[in-house]
Amino acid sequence: MASSRNLKFASRAIHAGQEPDPTTGSIMPPVYQTSTYAQESPGVFKQHYDYGRTANPTRTALEANLAALEGGKHGICFASGCAATTALLHTLASGDHVVMSDDVYGGTFRIFDSVFAKLGIVLTMVDMTDANAFAAAFQPRTKLVWLETPTNPLLKIVDLELARDLAKKHQALLAVDNTFATPFLQNPLDYGVDVVCHSSTKYLGGHSDLLGGVLIVNDAGLAEKLHFIQNTTGAVPAPWDCFLLLRSTKTLHVRLERHCANAGKIAEFLAQHAKVERLIYPGLPSHPQYALATKQMRDAGGILTMLIKGDLAATKRFLERVQLFALAESLGGVESLIEHPAIMTHASIPPERRKVLGIGDNLVRLSVGIEDVDDLITDLDQALN
Ligand SMILES: *Cc1c(COP(=O)(O)O)cnc(C)c1O
Repeated sequence: MASSRNLKFASRAIHAGQEPDPTTGSIMPPVYQTSTYAQESPGVFKQHYDYGRTANPTRTALEANLAALEGGKHGICFASGCAATTALLHTLASGDHVVMSDDVYGGTFRIFDSVFAKLGIVLTMVDMTDANAFAAAFQPRTKLVWLETPTNPLLKIVDLELARDLAKKHQALLAVDNTFATPFLQNPLDYGVDVVCHSSTKYLGGHSDLLGGVLIVNDAGLAEKLHFIQNTTGAVPAPWDCFLLLRSTKTLHVRLERHCANAGKIAEFLAQHAKVERLIYPGLPSHPQYALATKQMRDAGGILTMLIKGDLAATKRFLERVQLFALAESLGGVESLIEHPAIMTHASIPPERRKVLGIGDNLVRLSVGIEDVDDLITDLDQALN
């Protein structure tokens, strides 16, 4: 097969990491549902496979596929996005300092705040859209910069070139959680970012039927460290989930095109709706960083955030009335979901911090699916009125 590096995105999505099975010709990589591998003589393996935690051929195919989608050299897969984040944090030592964007996934904040803070990792959260504040957040022992762009749930855009320059200047590793944008819309490695992280539970999986996570890097030394942590701490994905993910990434580009198209139409509809106080979507010129979003991303994605006119009661009423949008945590599936960050995904962030961040009681996040957009708009309209 042609080297996947020369192929365009849609071809990589379908072919990278996957060859017809040499034994049977099977087009799809088999699910190698095994925990161990027979050795020919002690320490002599048929390939390099010795034990299921260390490596599995279905996982190897997935890791190559996801790395190719991000334009990276090494993919290291985990049982969830949080397990991927945790693995990266295990590269740090007590006393190391981390700069993190202020409005990250609630579960990511909780890993830092509730697990690694106790182990002596020091955290500074900062609004990275404020270049001066971002530059001032570094300390002599800053070893890692962690960011999401677009952020969650306020969809702020962080300038990847600025982040790279600041991280390089302070010799800190730069990690970008690219879950919201997906490799179809944004490739942080192209900006010189060191580590791309995904919760593959979301768009990569795309069908709300699995949990997964991945770290993608170019540096061979860092990849070796992360493989060591993957094997040592053991939060690896099951072969079946790797198979499902390989099946999902084949349609990532097709799904994302529809997610973006639907989200764009719904954004325009909601932005002028009488019951909506404010609509946040990086694809609308009204977004404060529209120019940066257009430069960094190929399209604006499938997530919208809106502030409803009224209080918590009015917001709950709206959330109870939507029918086609399911009221549920998570995002990135083919079906549309809606959620209330203050009560649901971001409940682990203390109320005072949520207030500072602007995650109020009337803020709602939509993950726009790939249903018929007219049906989605009709549903939102009836629930708002
Ligand atoms: C869901 C999510 C995570 C955590 O991933 P899990 O697969 O749920 O562990 C991390 N980052 C972002 C942006 C997410 O949306």
